[in-house]
Amino acid sequence: MFVFKIFSEWEETVTIRATLSILVLFLSFFVTISYSSDPYYAIMANQWLDINDSQQSITRQRILNKKRRSGPELIQAAMGKHNSPWTHGNVYYQFAPEITSFTKDLFIRAFREWEDGTSLKFIERTNQPNYIYIIYSEITSSGVGMGGARQLLLITPYEHTPYGTVLHELGHALGLHHEHQRSDRDQYIDVFMENLTSLGQSQIGHIIPTLNYTPYDFLSVMHYGRNTLSKNTEDTIRPKAPYMLYIDRFGNRQSVSELDKEGIRKFCAYMPVLISPPDGQVDVDAGKLELCWYGFREADKFQVQVARDSNFTEIVAEQIVPAVDVHVNAIEKQYAVVDLTRNTSYYWRVRCRIENEYKSWSDPAGFCTMINDYTRYQKGQPDGLRLYQNYPNPVQSMTTIAFECSEAGPAKLTLYNSQGKEITELISNLLSPGHYEVIWDSKRFANGVYFYRLSTSRNSLTRKMVLVK
Ligand SMILES: [Zn+2]
Repeated sequence: MFVFKIFSEWEETVTIRATLSILVLFLSFFVTISYSSDPYYAIMANQWLDINDSQQSITRQRILNKKRRSGPELIQAAMGKHNSPWTHGNVYYQFAPEITSFTKDLFIRAFREWEDGTSLKFIERTNQPNYIYIIYSEITSSGVGMGGARQLLLITPYEHTPYGTVLHELGHALGLHHEHQRSDRDQYIDVFMENLTSLGQSQIGHIIPTLNYTPYDFLSVMHYGRNTLSKNTEDTIRPKAPYMLYIDRFGNRQSVSELDKEGIRKFCAYMPVLISPPDGQVDVDAGKLELCWYGFREADKFQVQVARDSNFTEIVAEQIVPAVDVHVNAIEKQYAVVDLTRNTSYYWRVRCRIENEYKSWSDPAGFCTMINDYTRYQKGQPDGLRLYQNYPNPVQSMTTIAFECSEAGPAKLTLYNSQGKEITELISNLLSPGHYEVIWDSKRFANGVYFYRLSTSRNSLTRKMVLVK
């Protein structure tokens, strides 16, 4: 007899699907239910044996193929990134016969709320193959995104099932993970592992490598509250110091937030998510620059553009690249390589092609290539270290910074903003005596006062410049 214990919602798709196939293999039907102080987030996995569809089997096979190649960790992470959006934003659903009109009304209200401001449409299923099947269970759970075939959404039968819980589970079915588990959550919240129940360890404790379309959202309907799944009523989640204003506001189970909707809009439009270079990076290596992004499982090609302006009128590089390993899964990161010019600002974006149709462009990311080049002039014999005022100053776009050194050795020319934060390193090199000039492109920088400092092992000099566009 095989007993499987799964402390998870359906987002642990891989574990569960793999488990499923093993279950089927051994004709074993026993799965334990995990109990907790909060029954809404547990899962009962024997329900899944209902899922038996050719598409589901293909997906399983793909996952198992992948598993052999790269181990379970990667698969799990990857699935998190590539839950499918609902095709054309049409979400088909069906209520199990026992669902009462009270519960139906809750769902209908939640459908309308998710539809408002997104391109989604919830449609009662007739014979469509992919759909959400809503059934009663002691626990509440859903898969993440369109899983293919019939996917269960489990909801408690009690009339006190909160409306917010329905919104939350539908959020999962649409493709959203928990906000407090997203890949960058450690910048925003502290998680107190010692206070978590065992279910909390999986539903709060671990981070999911998510695609983050929108800024971290404390008000998301997908965010747990401050002591959800606590074993001792102590806090399980607390905002980091700069975000303490949310201390009593997160764990919203009232309504879908604006950012929840924005995320869904982008996800449904198949917008790729750019990884690197990220928006705002100022020291990107220009030669053989590798652009990297997350695509979608369904995509077969990607179109990549690099331009000098954010409207993409002045395009300097354009490529169509085939998706990597797309038929096994599109979980891999996708890449393109471009050669760019040093010390220049650029913007880049990507869109994917699915069934011969190009989808929406990603949000563009702007970056600036490194100044790892400078000009050295022989102008007599310098008699010390000198840093000249940049020209022109105030700066409108480009400016030249000149300096002289009389001794060979390591030298650095660094740019700081008015708060003294380092912005970029213009030069970091071993220099021989001479007169040097560096051109700085200020295009990606905000107006304001900047400082540049020349330092050697013996001395350092600083000057101020003003950026006024
Ligand atoms: Zn959840």
